Amino acid sequence: MKIHEYQAKDLMRQYGVAVPDGYPAFTVAEAMEAAHKLPGPIRVVKAQIHAGGRGLGGGVKVCKTLETVEQHATAILGMMLKTHQTGPGGQLVRRLYIEGGADIARELYLSLLLDRDCGKLVVMASTEGGMAIEDVAHATPEKIFKEWIDPKVGLQPFQCRKLGFGLGLNAKSTTSFTKLLTSLYRLYTDLDCSLLEINPLIVTGSGDVMALDGKITFDDNGLFRHPQLEALRDFAEEDPAEVEAGKFDLSYVHLDGNVGCLVNGAGLAMATMDILQHFGSEPANFLDVGGGATAEKVTAAFKIILSDDRVQAIFINIFGGIMKCDTIAEGVITAAREVGLNLPLVVRLEGTNVELGRQMLAESGLPIETALDMKDGAQKAVAAANRYAAQAR
Ligand code: ADP
Ligand code: MG
Repeated sequence: MKIHEYQAKDLMRQYGVAVPDGYPAFTVAEAMEAAHKLPGPIRVVKAQIHAGGRGLGGGVKVCKTLETVEQHATAILGMMLKTHQTGPGGQLVRRLYIEGGADIARELYLSLLLDRDCGKLVVMASTEGGMAIEDVAHATPEKIFKEWIDPKVGLQPFQCRKLGFGLGLNAKSTTSFTKLLTSLYRLYTDLDCSLLEINPLIVTGSGDVMALDGKITFDDNGLFRHPQLEALRDFAEEDPAEVEAGKFDLSYVHLDGNVGCLVNGAGLAMATMDILQHFGSEPANFLDVGGGATAEKVTAAFKIILSDDRVQAIFINIFGGIMKCDTIAEGVITAAREVGLNLPLVVRLEGTNVELGRQMLAESGLPIETALDMKDGAQKAVAAANRYAAQAR
């Protein structure tokens, strides 16, 4: 789960991390109220969307007067903000953050994340603040410093000093940096984060270290331990199909292809995506209905695929072990009756109650193409999608 910058900064404040003062605003009037509460003269109007690169896209404006705050708040609220992390259409700005202007002497980069190769958290720091870290890693990897954290002892002060040295901080700033990083580490581990990125981390004119941006992603698997975080969720920023899938506890990821997939088991789902690609199509989604899915869950899954207007054919690939083939058939038939099926549907069923499942589908009157096996099914789904696309043209 991702959250907004202002929410991340609220959490950071609670953990004692230095951030500028600021207030969220949902309207221009609220933005002006927030601006009046800040001492000025410099105030910054910041678009709140779940994507970075807002500054380059025109979503972050440094203002010298209250009039310019009003102008920029009016312009940014409601705009479609395009950044390298949004889709080409951009993301609608519904919230603003009005923040006090910071006295920036240097812009640095800092992040905490899990290094899956060694199963430890890693702190990454760089002198190249404000730039995408992927670009720095590519062009000047020597400007990135890393410290891996031993989970038995946690982040050690010497590691903070080592990073501070790499960043070229003086003694005062290193002390400030150590305090900040220690607090961030506590936040990360307390709240089961999966990414915490501060870009830029700044050194102020007086040598203090401060977070000027904040991106926090929580590990969804740890959310149940932190019910207070649920209030930070902004569904408007999330993919509607993935939100819907979440309600039914389905593992669903929206992709860019044209063949909708309904599969049970993550391994089979991955293999299904591969075989579709092998035969020349791209999957429209990853969807694992899970082992013990109910007909209700299958119905929801099938409806989600049908609601994706880029889908040109559906491939159901089920190996019923714990999952029963008749349950799949029941879900598919219910969903198709409820919302109508106007797409080619290829079904490959195998396993428990397969005869019953096949019979139910055959008697349903739905226009289904049955497949002998996975290869046959994938080929038929690709061909069906191509025919459908040709007709649509
Ligand atoms: P994004 O990463 O989405 O572009 P940032 O929050 O990093 O958004 O802001 C972009 C840039 O705007 C920063 O690198 C910094 O130079 C400037 N900026 C952001 N907040 C402030 C602030 N409170 N005071 C002064 N400058 C700021
Ligand atoms: Mg940033």
